[in-house]
Amino acid sequence: ENGLLTGKTIVVMGVANQRSIAWGCTTALQAQGARVILTYQNDRLKQSLQRFVNADMPLIPCDVADEENIEAAFATIKAQYGQIDGVIHAIAYADKATLTGKFIETTKAGYDLAQEISAYSLVAVARAAQPVLKSGASIATLTYFGSERAIPNYKMMGVAKAALEANVRYLARDLGAQQVRINAISAGAVKTLAVTGISAHRDLLKLSESLTVDGQAVTTTEIGNVAAFLMSDLSQGMTGDILYVDKGVHLS
Ligand code: NAD
Repeated sequence: ENGLLTGKTIVVMGVANQRSIAWGCTTALQAQGARVILTYQNDRLKQSLQRFVNADMPLIPCDVADEENIEAAFATIKAQYGQIDGVIHAIAYADKATLTGKFIETTKAGYDLAQEISAYSLVAVARAAQPVLKSGASIATLTYFGSERAIPNYKMMGVAKAALEANVRYLARDLGAQQVRINAISAGAVKTLAVTGISAHRDLLKLSESLTVDGQAVTTTEIGNVAAFLMSDLSQGMTGDILYVDKGVHLS
């Protein structure tokens, strides 16, 4: 085997089903020779995973709403699989009311929840993973252009993504001394479970597709391949950066 990731063990957080960006990452990492460990939010999602993952795929529970759960997950990973080479964080959440109302109607509870799950969780994950990461390891998260522009219907998630991207930059400083890097992929819109929570998501997806350079939406495999590059030694000079993988939507 001579894949980019042969001999590396990568933890992927956020596979819900085969449409998940995290699943596109998983298959891309495996294609480059990585061993992948998945974490799942709850038993319902574990059952969803068990319908399509290989029977020998490591599955570790991790609800990022519970900090002790995050620490326990990485302690289990260390005990069972040893030191790791990377983590992909592909997790976000905002409640239905927050995603459907006007942005100006956002409640404090809705604001806090979206920030907690979609932005703060990266800090908690990086901290819990730190003692388990090898020197030269890499962390990547998933963001969206709605962090920079007021994209119709994206609202609170855009605010959470802006915080997430700032988290990446400050975490890059802290992790650098340990030779660990962290970056974000700003992915184009893809129809996943998370996106269907956004009101008028069909309009958002259609608008995004029409703004790509060739009229075709980015795929989770294309996003996953960039995640594989970020997990590989080829990206060792990059940290604290946001990479667009959106077929040029951000150019408009
Ligand atoms: P998805 O619904 O397939 O994945 C979201 C995942 O978040 C699910 O697996 C869910 O279990 C997990 N999650 C939510 N709350 C959690 C919690 N408390 N603990 C643990 N896990 C939790 O959707 P997706 O689109 O693949 O989303 C993955 C990431 O990509 C998200 O950060 C999303 O914002 C980002 N993203 C998506 C798009 C898009 O268009 N789909 C574009 C850019 C960025």
